[in-house]
Amino acid sequence: MDKVNVLGVDFDNKTFNQFQNEFISRLNNHLSTFIVTANPEIVMAANENPVFMKILKDDTDYITADGIGIVKAAKMLKQPLPERVTGYDLFTWLMSVANERGSRVYLIGAKPQVIHAVQAKVAKEYPNINLVGAEDGYFKGDLELVARRIAKTQPDMVFAALGFPKQEKLLAILRRNEVPALMMGVGGSFDVFSG
Ligand code: UDP
Repeated sequence: MDKVNVLGVDFDNKTFNQFQNEFISRLNNHLSTFIVTANPEIVMAANENPVFMKILKDDTDYITADGIGIVKAAKMLKQPLPERVTGYDLFTWLMSVANERGSRVYLIGAKPQVIHAVQAKVAKEYPNINLVGAEDGYFKGDLELVARRIAKTQPDMVFAALGFPKQEKLLAILRRNEVPALMMGVGGSFDVFSG
C-alpha cells in the first residue's frame, strides 16, 4: 500500500531513507515538491478546516508521519507505517544537503530575533548555503504577495515556520505556480534550530 489513510489524511508509506532518496531525486530534477510533516494536531485541524484538508489532498506531494501518535494510529487501523519522519529531522538533514550542494535557500517564519539567530547559525555552520531570503513570520501583506517575493529569488528550497495552516497556505501557492523548489512547513523548528 502506497498510502495509509488516518482520519482522511493520506500518509506516504515510506521510511526516512526512502523519503531522502526521493527528495534528492526531485531536487536533481528541479521538480516543484511540497512536503507536509503531519502530526496529530495537523490531522485534527484538517478535519475541522475544509480549506486545509483540500490543500493536504490536492497540493502536497508527500505527507510524512510527524510523531509516534500517527504511527500508533496507523498500527491500530491495521495499516502500519514504517516509522515516524519528523519535520525537524527532515529540516536539519535538508539543510546539510543544501550546504553540500550550495543550494539557494529561502527561510521564512518565527520572530525577528529568532530568524536573525537562524541566519547567524547558517552563516557559521552551513557556509555553502546561498541564503536567498531570511525573513520573520510577522509580515504585512497577503500570502500571494509573499509567495511572489519568494519565487523571484529562484530558491531550490523553501522552509516556512509560520505554524499551520498558514505555512501550508503559503507553500500551496508556490506549488500551484509550479515553483521548482522543495518546500516544507517546519512549525516551531526555527525556534529549536536557533537555540
Ligand atoms: N509564527 C509566525 N507567524 C505567525 C504565527 C506563528 O512566524 O503569524 C511562528 C512562531 O513564531 C513559531 C512558529 O510559527 O516560530 C510555530 O508556531 P507554533 O508553535 O504556534 O506552531 P506549530 O509548531 O504548532 O505548528
